[in-house]
Amino acid sequence: MWISPKKEGVSVAAGIMLSEMAEMKMTLRELVSYMIKHHPIMAEKLKNAKTVLEQPSMIFYPGTVSKPHYNGAILAGEAAGHTVAATGAGIHWSMVGGEHAATAVANALEKDDVSEAALSEGDRLVKEEIGEYLELGVKMRAKTFDVKGREMLIEGLKASEAARKMFLEMLSGKARFTETARFW
Ligand SMILES: Cc1cc2nc3c(=O)[nH]c(=O)nc-3n(C[C@H](O)[C@H](O)[C@H](O)COP(=O)(O)OP(=O)(O)OC[C@H]3O[C@@H](n4cnc5c(N)ncnc54)[C@H](O)[C@@H]3O)c2cc1C
Repeated sequence: MWISPKKEGVSVAAGIMLSEMAEMKMTLRELVSYMIKHHPIMAEKLKNAKTVLEQPSMIFYPGTVSKPHYNGAILAGEAAGHTVAATGAGIHWSMVGGEHAATAVANALEKDDVSEAALSEGDRLVKEEIGEYLELGVKMRAKTFDVKGREMLIEGLKASEAARKMFLEMLSGKARFTETARFW
């Protein structure tokens, strides 16, 4: 969960896996409301706050769809799973996906062939450029998906100063996520 300042007011956000939500038997709205009322820091900071907008959204990951090309249709960006599974970030890779989808569509139109095979060029280009990173994100997510995995991560961070440094640099945006993923 995080709070970020805006021009007027703040954004209160929560990110959670669907499976965790099912386990907690709580909707996202209930979770955020609960934290606003009961979290020791948030409750104090937001005691006089008024909700003006609720904006729930899902993040798709690599593998959410089995393929992004069909006869006469192509998916790109988050719809195609071009996101960092480990962090939920997807703006940069969605731009990569969008660019390659556009190239595939332009080439297909030029040849007057918008078949699934012709449009698969987009996916091929995406895999060439960021395929390794998409897979690393999934691997990293798998390692931290359950409580045991997260505990192992915390123990690993406690034991190694180098791991702590790299993790903090990743969070602050100084180190690329992919460098950290390899270290994992
Ligand atoms: C809470 C949250 C925080 C995030 N934080 C970050 C972050 O810090 N950094 C980061 O890199 N990524 C972040 N992401 C992920 C990032 O927002 C997405 O990966 C990225 O926006 C995907 O871009 P996109 O263009 O593929 O899809 P989108 O940005 O979702 O764009 C799809 C557009 O299509 C429109 N649309 C949908 N259906 C139709 C329709 N039928 N007809 C016409 N239009 C339609 C939608 O309204 C939308 O405007 C976050 C996501 C969430 C939910």
